[in-house]
Formats: sequence, structure tokens, C-alpha cells
Amino acid sequence: MDKQTDFVLRTIEDRGVRFVRLWFTDVVGSLKSVAVSPAEIEGAFEEGIGFDGSSIQGFTRVSESDMLAFPDPSTFQLLPWRGEKDPTGRMFCDLTTPDGQPAASDSRNVLRRTMAQAAERGFSFYVHPECEFYLLDRESLQEGRPQPADHAGYFDNEPGGSANDFRRRAVTMLEELGISVEFSHHEVGPGQNEIDLRYADALTMADNIQTFRTVVKEVGIEQGVHATFMPKPFPDQPGSGMHTHFSLFEGDDNAFYDPAGQYELSHTARRFMAGVLHHAAEITAVTNQFVNSYKRLWGGDEAPSSIAWGHNNRSALLRVPLYKPGKGQSTRIEYRGIDSAANPYLVFALLLAAGLKGIEEDYELPDEAEDNIWELSDQERRALGIRSLPGSLEQALELMEGSELVADTLGEQVFNYFLLNKRQEWREYRAQVTDYELRHSLNRL
Ligand code: GLN
Ligand code: MG
Ligand code: MG
Ligand code: MG
Repeated sequence: MDKQTDFVLRTIEDRGVRFVRLWFTDVVGSLKSVAVSPAEIEGAFEEGIGFDGSSIQGFTRVSESDMLAFPDPSTFQLLPWRGEKDPTGRMFCDLTTPDGQPAASDSRNVLRRTMAQAAERGFSFYVHPECEFYLLDRESLQEGRPQPADHAGYFDNEPGGSANDFRRRAVTMLEELGISVEFSHHEVGPGQNEIDLRYADALTMADNIQTFRTVVKEVGIEQGVHATFMPKPFPDQPGSGMHTHFSLFEGDDNAFYDPAGQYELSHTARRFMAGVLHHAAEITAVTNQFVNSYKRLWGGDEAPSSIAWGHNNRSALLRVPLYKPGKGQSTRIEYRGIDSAANPYLVFALLLAAGLKGIEEDYELPDEAEDNIWELSDQERRALGIRSLPGSLEQALELMEGSELVADTLGEQVFNYFLLNKRQEWREYRAQVTDYELRHSLNRL
């Protein structure tokens, strides 16, 4: 038995743990949980816990529905919202088929595989996300006219405001779960907040984001507000993005840093950026996976719509944050397309794959976009050779379907299931007659 496994078993015993929840993620990013009695955990480490995969989004076909979940002992934590008495533990799991093969449908495995490909070239992949979400007034939601929980704005310090208590509680819980938080603040929209997690390797971070989302939901329940990661809940307020900062390390060195390069970016960083921009349109169905995601991505409210990079423009899809020269180890790029409802495992896998492709094929990084390009019309931008992000889920799916990079990275099963599931969402949405159409047309036409 290795040290970590031993530590988990001892903690379960010493702390009188009552249940252990085993967590994994389905293809569209929902967290799944099965509670196991502590007596089963030793066996679970050795033989896995069997479950029926056929009822989980994007998992196996019914004829091959048996799957096994192997808890990852390095992720063991006690859940703070379950209290000190008879505590509940949790671990993330890796999923396999009964014959021990990594399950093709396991998002965690998709990311692991892509990180292993990076490791073969000597790279490890680090990320830090800025997670935005809205807090809504619970009663207004129940009455079917959702309203934000407060009227504060960007960085507002609202004396006695409920958002302060919310963030304080959420950050404390995250720290109890071993997740460090760098910043937290009120965002631009009323009721909108942001919590930025301290950087970690992409697999740890994808797990952390799943934990973070659960914590935010739990604190909402505790404090009587409804927390939502919906990308664009209000048409006239900013959406909720998950801007993510990326860097590649080679051993202890940041491979994106070169003091002699433009903005202190290395050749590797420029090739990585070129890869991300080159493949941005085809991965958008995954970074922005809901019909509603595209209500955010129109170029306003600091959300991107054009495939371009810059260093200070807040509408750029890809930004090089420039805080001070000599950033060294903290050199990174910020991808601003992702929204708060994306499956973090698949998103990180695709962005890494796109960046690696740029390095491998030596893609040329286009020039930095001039500041005024964001004020140009679509036509003028096209004339400059700047492409747009897809404008709808339907367009995004079409681009994804033709993408070898996405198919290879996700693997056939996740790729096909994702397209099937999202096409269905698009068909359902198309069949709706919206309030907008009624308001716009019913009396006029
Ligand atoms: N909410 C904006 C978005 O949707 C981001 C605002 C910001 O952090 N600058 O991307
Ligand atoms: Mg921020
Ligand atoms: Mg923000
Ligand atoms: Mg940002």
C-alpha cells in the first residue's frame, strides 16, 4: 500500500468518517457522486467500485455499461459543509472498463492523456482560472422573475453586503479543502462575483474547479441565495466568464519566459499562442457548450468575439497580461473565451492540444491586434484577416465536427457523444418561440 492510500485509510479511521463520496464528471461537465461506506474504501482502491455507466451522460452504450471507479487518494478531503461530527470525505475517481482500460468517456482521462503527451515533450501545463458567477435572490427565482441578490458593481465594498459574507465563507471552505484562493471580489454585474484560484497543474485545477462549483452552490444554499454559473443570465448585464491563465513549464523553468522576447514571451509561448488562435473556432463548442453561451460572446461586456490577441484590450480572446517587467516564472497568457459552465477537463485538454500543435507545427503568431480593431465592423475586421468566433452553438458544432484536433484529443466516444448531445440541445432551442419574438412581432406582423 502506498503512503497516500495509507494516509486516507488512517484519516478515515482517526476522524470517524461516516461516508466517503466518490466523485467523477460526465461529458457535459456535471459532477457525479456515489457515497460509499468507509469499510469499502480499501477494496475500492484495489478493485474499484462498480457502477452502471449507461445512465450517465456520454458514458458507455448499454451493451458495455459496467464501469469501475478507482478513487485517487491524492484528492482525499473532508467536506466542510457536512460538519465536524461524523464527517464526510470525498475523492475524485479515475474510471476504467471492467478489464482495466481507462474509460474512453472519462473527462479526467481525456485531460490526463493530453497532459501525458505534453510530458513526452518535456512540458507540464499550469493554469489558473478566474471564476465568475451570479448570486440571485431566491424568492424572485421561485416566482419566475430572477433578480440579482444585490445592486453592487465592480470591486464595490458594500458595507454589510451579503456578497462579502458569501465570498468569505466560500473562500474559507475552499481553503479547508486545500484549494488556495488568490483574489475574490464583486464583479461588474449586480449580484456577480469572481473568485480566482491559485495556479496548479491542469488536472488538479480541473478537480479544483469541480469542487469550487460545488462549494459555491453549497454556500448559496446555506445563505439563502441561488448561485448560478449560467453564462449569460441577464441580457443587459455582463456574462460569467472563466478567463484562464496558462503557462508551460520545462522542469522548474517557465517555458513561456524569455527576457529578450516581445513582452518577454519565448518562441515557445508565441507558437503556443498561435496554436490556440488557429484552433480557437473549432474548440469553441466545448469552451462555450450551451445555447446560452453565445449570448455572452458578442464582443460587448468584456467578452470576446474575434479571434485575435492583444496585451491590454479586454475584448481580446487571448491577452498577454503585462504587470511588470521581469515576470519570469509568472509569465503566462490569458484565454478569455471560456465560460463558467464549461467542462474544465475537456477545455484544458483542448487548449493544451491546440497550443502543442502550434509548437509542433511551428505556427506563425499573427500580429498583435491594434487597439481599435474592436471598434471596427465585422466586415472591416474580415478585410484585415481577423476571423470571428462562432456566433451560435450550431455554428460551433459544425466547426467542431470538421476538426481533427478536437476528434483526436477527445477520442471518438466523447467527440461523438458531445456532438449528439449538443445537436439535440440546438434542435430543442430552435423549436422555441421566444419572448423577444413575441414582443417584436406579435403586434406588428
Ligand atoms: N464578465 C466578463 C466575461 O464574460 C469578464 C469581465 C472581466 O473580468 N474583465 O468575460
Ligand atoms: Mg479577474
Ligand atoms: Mg472578471
Ligand atoms: Mg481576466
